[in-house]
Amino acid sequence: MADLVQRYLDQIRAEHVALREGALADYIPELATVDPDGFGVTLSSSDGFVYESGDTAVEFTIQSISKPFTYALALDQIGERAVDARIGVEPSGEAFNEISVDKTTKTPKNPMINAGAIAAVSLVPGATPDERFNRIHEFYSACAGRRLDVDLDVYASEKATGNRNRAIAYMLTSFGALQGDPDEVLDVYFRQCSIKVTSTDLARMAATLARGGLNPLTGRRVTDGQVVRRTLSVMVTCGMYDAAGDWVSAVGMPAKSGVGGGIAAVLPGQLGIGVYSPRLDAKGNSVRGVAVCRSLSTRLGLHFLTVSRETSATLRAVYDAGPRIRVYEIQGDLLFAGAEQVLRTAARESAGFDVAILDGTRVDDINDTARDMLTGMRAGLAEDGKEGYLVDPDGRVVPAERRGDYDAVVFRTVDDAVAAARQLLSD
Ligand code: GLN
Repeated sequence: MADLVQRYLDQIRAEHVALREGALADYIPELATVDPDGFGVTLSSSDGFVYESGDTAVEFTIQSISKPFTYALALDQIGERAVDARIGVEPSGEAFNEISVDKTTKTPKNPMINAGAIAAVSLVPGATPDERFNRIHEFYSACAGRRLDVDLDVYASEKATGNRNRAIAYMLTSFGALQGDPDEVLDVYFRQCSIKVTSTDLARMAATLARGGLNPLTGRRVTDGQVVRRTLSVMVTCGMYDAAGDWVSAVGMPAKSGVGGGIAAVLPGQLGIGVYSPRLDAKGNSVRGVAVCRSLSTRLGLHFLTVSRETSATLRAVYDAGPRIRVYEIQGDLLFAGAEQVLRTAARESAGFDVAILDGTRVDDINDTARDMLTGMRAGLAEDGKEGYLVDPDGRVVPAERRGDYDAVVFRTVDDAVAAARQLLSD
């Protein structure tokens, strides 16, 4: 039954396979020789459960998706005030590698363009470049929940060809906006861009931000909620470079892209998404990555500015109402994440019952995605030879005209549903 979400993901991915527009990054040979058709999509729930579709085990370099994480680390280590003195939070409207600073402050406009990202590296404490890099590397790994590796060839190439970034770093030094030796800072920046991830790593890193700095897989707190809120804020306004406005309007999730073909997107409190597809548009964003995030947002109702009331715990109670009859009492406002939790819990426990009764008496509000998922649940149960009943006295969960699978098995009270279930099981 949790398969329903898997099928959504597979379907949405499949719809974008034919999209072959865009071109591989070719400023270094390593990026130009990857398989252009590689395509992986991963969704991590806020409790660390991962749905994967396509090439989710393919490693690629994190590139600019490193920027929000190093910024978060700098905030975590030296605090917001000290970071704000060196890096702004205004969208630049310029290309990611623009050689520019804010006209009045003479500091980088934001941490998501190269100038701000290089400045952020210089703010991470460390007596030597190695020490600084190790701290960064350890932080990314803690967010991903596994030890990440560095692509040494990409690193060597980034370093050999990085004159634009060198120009940026020296410009910052000339304005007094960069601490330390610019070449040492650049070396760490090139290394951080060369850290290898999969779409699943990105989804997990995004889920760690979605959980306010707690890695849901490992249970380890990597930073605090205030750091995450600030990081997500700049991802919203600046994460997709000069496409940020379009992105926020259409997708509505804080996100960051990289020229390695990755995108990480965060739905606060709910989930993390990682996409890999290396063909890029003119702005340096993955073409399929952008398209797939648009679809996910629309189809799963993920736009973060969708106005709905705060959801509390979805499953209020789970209990047996007789031999092989289990009741799932759901409450509050039901969105994708809540419905997914209900489906997955029932799927996990399905060996323990023959009839699942979904008690929706206490549901306040529900969106179409959650409605479709709960409606689809009965078909999922049927695949396992189980039955699903719905208690929905006011037609709030599934209005009469949309009952579909549930027609004939909707009850006014739990007692009615239990009586029917007993009858069914005794036949
Ligand atoms: N290493 C690349 C650079 O600094 C990263 C750019 C990116 O992913 N947008 O130019």
